[in-house]
Amino acid sequence: MERKIINLIKDSSRVLIITHVNPDGDTLGTASALKSYIGEKADILVQIKDKFQFPKMYEFLPHIDKALNLTNVKNEYDLIIAVDVASCDRIVENARKIFDNSKNTIVIDHHKTNKGYAKLNYIKGELSSASEVLYELFKEVDIEITKEIATGLYCGILTDTGCFKYENTTPKTFKIASLLAQTGINTSQIADFCYSNKPKNFILFQNYLVSNAKFCLNDKIVYALITKEIMNQFSAKDEYTEGICETLRSIAGVEIAFVLKEIETGAKVSIRTQEIDATKITDKFNGGGHRRAAGCTIKLEINEALEKLIEQAKTLL
Ligand code: AMP
Ligand code: MN
Ligand code: MN
Repeated sequence: MERKIINLIKDSSRVLIITHVNPDGDTLGTASALKSYIGEKADILVQIKDKFQFPKMYEFLPHIDKALNLTNVKNEYDLIIAVDVASCDRIVENARKIFDNSKNTIVIDHHKTNKGYAKLNYIKGELSSASEVLYELFKEVDIEITKEIATGLYCGILTDTGCFKYENTTPKTFKIASLLAQTGINTSQIADFCYSNKPKNFILFQNYLVSNAKFCLNDKIVYALITKEIMNQFSAKDEYTEGICETLRSIAGVEIAFVLKEIETGAKVSIRTQEIDATKITDKFNGGGHRRAAGCTIKLEINEALEKLIEQAKTLL
């Protein structure tokens, strides 16, 4: 399988690396590392309309400054590789058309809910991040991990493990992190790029949402609703919502944390749990993810979506 993927990359003349909507450190870090390996003939697609919507903290990643967006990507590739993209629903608009019409497609992922929608599916649900999956692939075929490749992979592993806190962090994760560190990357600087130097409104927006969170079911469920009005009030970018759901889950006694964001088509939902399997909730709404972190989009008004989620959560608590 690993050899097959590498040969397919070598035999292709133009490669498009697709990241998922609402891009995070894992999808962007993995794409950056893969582009570092493939070189000139590969492009990265970040599914945003323009540069303004790009999450600032990940601008340090190699090659990301030259990434294409939904407005300027063209259909000119003979191989598409989706990284950290749990389902083809997370490839939107013209990018989806390019994916569907492509002769060769590969998925490199770690979501246990990924059904394998590409022609070649390299999915390892037990690994912490797509970056860890890509590391495994590189190692299998003896590809040298350069400092540049290590920068992207380290970013993916760091952010998807919540700085090595979550239960997806295994002894092997630490071993890989150590090997990446040995290439000479500046691990503390990467952590600073990902977690420090936030705009003032980022912190004020997050604090507002946490302060206004609501509790139900004996405080076992906590939720925050992000309306368009609140987004406007803080001139919030999409990336400002990252981490709120984790903060809410960290409250003692909370079993399930929901963050619902009002979007054009309904509500975009983030779920974080303590013990229960979050994908048992998202399964009902055609979403997916991991045991303790999952998401979905519900085509309902935000309060109605919340009601449906709580109804479903009650059956699991
Ligand atoms: P988020 O709350 O957006 O950070 O997502 C949490 C986890 O669930 C991530 O691993 C996402 O990739 C995954 N996820 C979010 N939304 C969806 C969806 N609609 N379908 C499949 N997986 C999703
Ligand atoms: Mn991701
Ligand atoms: Mn991931």
